[in-house]
Formats: sequence, C-alpha cells, structure tokens
Amino acid sequence: MNVVLVGGGHAHLKCLLDIRKNPLPNQKIYLISPDRYQYYSGMFSGYTEGLYSLDEIRIDIKDLSEKAGVTFIEDKVTEVCVTGKTLLTKAGKKIPFSVVSFDTGSSIKSPPSFKDNLVQIKPNYFFANKIKEYREVEFPVVVGGGASGVEIALAITAWRKKNGLPTNVTLITSSKLLPSSSSQASKMIKEIAIGKGLSVKEDESVGEINENYVLTKNGTSLPHSRVLWLTGPSSPSIFKKSSLPCDENGFLLTKKTLQAKGLPFIFGAGDCITLEAFPDLPKNGVYAVRQAELLWDNITSYLNGDMCSTFTPQRHFLSLLSTGNKEALLQYGHFTSHNKLVWKLKNKIDTGYMKKYI
Ligand SMILES: Cc1cc2nc3c(=O)[nH]c(=O)nc-3n(C[C@H](O)[C@H](O)[C@H](O)COP(=O)(O)OP(=O)(O)OC[C@H]3O[C@@H](n4cnc5c(N)ncnc54)[C@H](O)[C@@H]3O)c2cc1C
Repeated sequence: MNVVLVGGGHAHLKCLLDIRKNPLPNQKIYLISPDRYQYYSGMFSGYTEGLYSLDEIRIDIKDLSEKAGVTFIEDKVTEVCVTGKTLLTKAGKKIPFSVVSFDTGSSIKSPPSFKDNLVQIKPNYFFANKIKEYREVEFPVVVGGGASGVEIALAITAWRKKNGLPTNVTLITSSKLLPSSSSQASKMIKEIAIGKGLSVKEDESVGEINENYVLTKNGTSLPHSRVLWLTGPSSPSIFKKSSLPCDENGFLLTKKTLQAKGLPFIFGAGDCITLEAFPDLPKNGVYAVRQAELLWDNITSYLNGDMCSTFTPQRHFLSLLSTGNKEALLQYGHFTSHNKLVWKLKNKIDTGYMKKYI
C-alpha cells in the first residue's frame, strides 16, 4: 500500500514529524516535491530585508523525509488518474497510491497578458533568488494591498534604505490597504507605510503594463523595472485537469475531515483546498498550520477504518505583519498595535516554528 504526500507545504511537514514519532508498519510512504527545500513564507519579509539568511528560512524536506523513513521524490505531480489510483509526474513517472494527500499551495493570480513584465516568485523556491535581484532594481512596483504585498513592499523599502539606495518603491492596490482588516488597521498601516517612505497608490487598478510603465485604469503612469504581483492566490491547475471535485476557482473541494468530496482516499490541506463548509476561509499559513494538526491522524484513521476528525477554523487569528526595521503590526479582531515588541513576538514565533524542522 502506498501513501503519497504531494507537496512539502505546512501540513505535510507536520506529517513527516508525526510519521517519525509513530511509524506506520506495512505502508510505503512517499513525498513528492519539485525542490528538496521548502521556504517558509512567514519569514519572506525578514529575508527580503536582510534579517535572515537563506538557511534560516528553508527546510530540507528530503532530509526530513529520510529521517521519517519516507521516500523523497524530487518531481512535480501533473495529473491524477482517479480510477487507476495513479499519479503522473513531470518526469514521466507513474506512481500508484492507495491514499494521496495534496499540500501543494497556491499560485499567484496574475493576468497572463502581463506575464513578461512580472517577477516570478512562485513556486516558493523561486522566492529567495528572485527577491534578491528585485530589491535592487531602479523602480520596484508591488501590486496588491493585502498582507503579503504590504509586507514585501515595506521590506524592500527598509532594505533599500539600509543599503543607501533611493527608496523608489510603489505599492498599487485596487482597494485600500489590508482590505480584509478593520478600517482602523487599514488607516494605521497606510500611515506607517507612508511614514517609512513607501509610495502608496490606493483605489488604482492596473490596466496595462508596458516595458517601462505601469498604466492604471485611472490614467496614472508609473515607471517600473518589472512588477511584483501579489494580489492573492489562484488554484493549481492539477485538480481541474484531473476532474477532481473543485470549487468554482479550481481549488480541491474537501469535507471538514480534509477528504476530497466523494473521494475519501484523497486528502488535502492548506492553500490548495477549499473546505465546502467554510468556502470563504482566507488562504494563509495560519490555517495551513492548523489543518496540519489533524491531517496525518485522519490519514491513519482512514487507513484503519476509523472515523476521521473534523477541522473547525477559529473565528479570529493573530496576525503579525512585519513593517520593516524590526517593527511589526499586530491585529487580533479589532485590536491593533504597532511597535518593536510585536516584531520580537513575530520573530519568536517564526524562529520557533522553524526550530521544529531544522
Ligand atoms: C510573499 C508572500 C508572503 C506571505 N507571508 C505570509 C505570512 O507572513 N503569514 C501567512 O500566514 N501567510 C503568508 N503567505 C501565504 C502563505 O505563503 C501560504 O498561505 C502558505 O504558504 C500556504 O501553505 P501550504 O502548506 O498550503 O503550501 P506552500 O507553503 O505553498 O507549499 C506548497 C509546496 O508544494 C509544492 N508543490 C506545488 N505544486 C506541486 C506539485 N504539482 N507536485 C509536487 N509538489 C508541488 C511547492 O513547491 C511547495 O513546496 C505569504 C504568501 C506570499 C506569496
């Protein structure tokens, strides 16, 4: 019997720890990922700013797999044959499974016509090299006013200041900053961002990107040296292509047990799934980490013929957003606070998370 874990996201990293503690007899377990390292996005802003080294933000999944007795395969799954219970890979392999689990994250939702002028930071293992080049370009332009866009734009700004480069960083967003947060938090982050030298263009949608300029639908024209597009997640193509149950955006549709709807031998967690019972749950690392708590237990329960437990997301979660120079914004419900102590807390949580894996 083969159990195959596809992708080295948060939930599968936790599975590797669980398997190491309680090995499963009579099961051959595989983990497939296109790169032997998994890069932790919670520390991307700190890496961009030069606060962390490469080795501090990445996890060696191959090593972690081997320690758990799991066979690591460096490859990418391209299709699932449900009837034949087989995975097809980019390298042309056919991998049979009795149970498969997907934790393959998401892609970035960028219009295909802009592709040539965008910086490609996904899959996650592209990020480290790409951002190192990008933070030095003459006119960095970040599109997307959500948490990742704001954090990365502020981290580039902080890095440029420290390294004596003109700031020149622009953040463009079609709404206000942090549109899913309270209006108090949106106002606060705008003041912080402007105070730190970031040029913020709210209520501006990008209409066109030519070789040198970004043109907004309101007629604003801004110089750019390629654009970092961070407007939110889009689904990996694999689920639709394989005719698996999907939501309207192509994310794998699962039950609260993290099992694909109608296909109990297919599991999923993190950004790549949509829970049928909670279709509007934001796609972020917080929920991926929470789902990680029950994924392996549910896979083993399924194999043993036992009941799987259900995932219920908490209503509020602690959001810590780095703003540069070792300061961060804390949000919990309607409470917000911005200072160096919050960054220390974020650093403690992020480095503590990494310590479990490296
Ligand atoms: C710049 C940026 C900053 C962010 N900062 C934060 C933050 O501070 N806090 C937060 O909570 N969220 C943050 N996010 C969101 C966060 O990155 C995601 O929500 C989170 O990583 C999702 O985790 P995951 O486990 O679903 O998958 P991921 O962490 O994306 O991992 C998926 C893995 O699967 C592999 N994979 C993909 N396709 C295949 C395939 N076909 N076959 C095999 N393997 C495959 C990938 O290479 C990758 O290793 C940020 C996102 C970005 C873009």
